Amino acid sequence: MKIHEYQAKEILRRFGIPVQPGEVAQTPAEAEEIARRFGVPVVIKAQVYVGGRGKAGGIQFGDTPEAAREAASRVLGMDIKGLTVNKVLVVPKLEIREEYYLGIISDRNSQAPVVMVSAAGGVDIEEVAAKTPELIIRQPIDMRWGLFPEEARTMLARAGMPHVVIAKGGDILAKLARAFIESDASLAEINPLALTGDGQVIAADAKILVDDNALVRQSEYAGWSEPEEANPLEFEAKAAGLTYVKLDGDVGIIGNGAGLVMTTLDMVARAGGKPANFLDIGGGAKAEVMKKSMLFVARDPQVKGILVNIFGGITRGEEVAKGIIMAQAELPAHMPIVARLSGTGEVEGRALLADAGLMWGSDMRDASQKIVAAIQGR
Ligand code: GDP
Ligand code: MG
Repeated sequence: MKIHEYQAKEILRRFGIPVQPGEVAQTPAEAEEIARRFGVPVVIKAQVYVGGRGKAGGIQFGDTPEAAREAASRVLGMDIKGLTVNKVLVVPKLEIREEYYLGIISDRNSQAPVVMVSAAGGVDIEEVAAKTPELIIRQPIDMRWGLFPEEARTMLARAGMPHVVIAKGGDILAKLARAFIESDASLAEINPLALTGDGQVIAADAKILVDDNALVRQSEYAGWSEPEEANPLEFEAKAAGLTYVKLDGDVGIIGNGAGLVMTTLDMVARAGGKPANFLDIGGGAKAEVMKKSMLFVARDPQVKGILVNIFGGITRGEEVAKGIIMAQAELPAHMPIVARLSGTGEVEGRALLADAGLMWGSDMRDASQKIVAAIQGR
């Protein structure tokens, strides 16, 4: 389960980790009022369930209460990676001298939580991991006793952090490990851990994921759940009775039946593509459902093309084809669509698609390769 930065910081605070005081505002006027109370300058921080807010313009500064109000009015309502900002966190601005990274994730290979620290903080840690992996120090946690402060300090020293950071940062990292374990987290991250001009070491940003399977015993955190914030489209799909899951690539995928859909995801990956989402239309879908599903999948801003993979049984190929053709009329003209139909109504369906000038694949592999090629402009 995702939680917001202000909630993650509340957890850190409970475990004794220093964080800036702060309050959440839902209107520019509230942000101004908070800035007046805490004193300026302040930072206005978008509270959305995605990282990289800084780069997206979701982190802004206000040197006066009025400027804080203006910054909040710019950030509230902003769209960051498909999510709308409904809340901002207002915190006193730190004078940051250096930024470091502390993180803990559940790691399947180690069958344990793994601690990662780096002196290259502030930036995207995935980028550091890809380009300069030697700058990240890793160590698994033994769940029987957690992470000892001396182990934590050794890690920070190995990462090349300066002496002024090691003692305080080591204390913070050991506490972060406790917070991770006791909150049943699958990820706990402080990025940046800030060294300020006056020598404080403080968590300037925080991200925690709580394991969904542990929510029965983390009932307080379960109450923090905001499914409509986490993924508005998934939330809407559920309400409309559609089985829709958001992923991270650019190929929209529609199929019938969980097994076929999973296979389609694999086939797209094998063809060098990345699924953006998938929607399972289930059994016996008519043209109208097919059309609705296509338009739904295309609403994801990451979708650059749609692959339809249907095995006809009680679902008829010509109904699917009619639905695709109806949807195409409403979709952007440049959006490639590839369909693969087999089974009941396959011949009729293909004939309809061919008449409408739509692309189709002779089998799953062919269709996957065609949609990936169309999206990548090959
Ligand atoms: P993210 O982009 O979603 O990870 O949001 P962060 O909270 O990590 O903020 C992004 C960047 O904004 C940080 O790496 C800092 O460089 C900067 N930033 C955030 N808070 C402060 C602050 O209090 N003072 C200063 N000087 N910079 C800040
Ligand atoms: Mg950050």
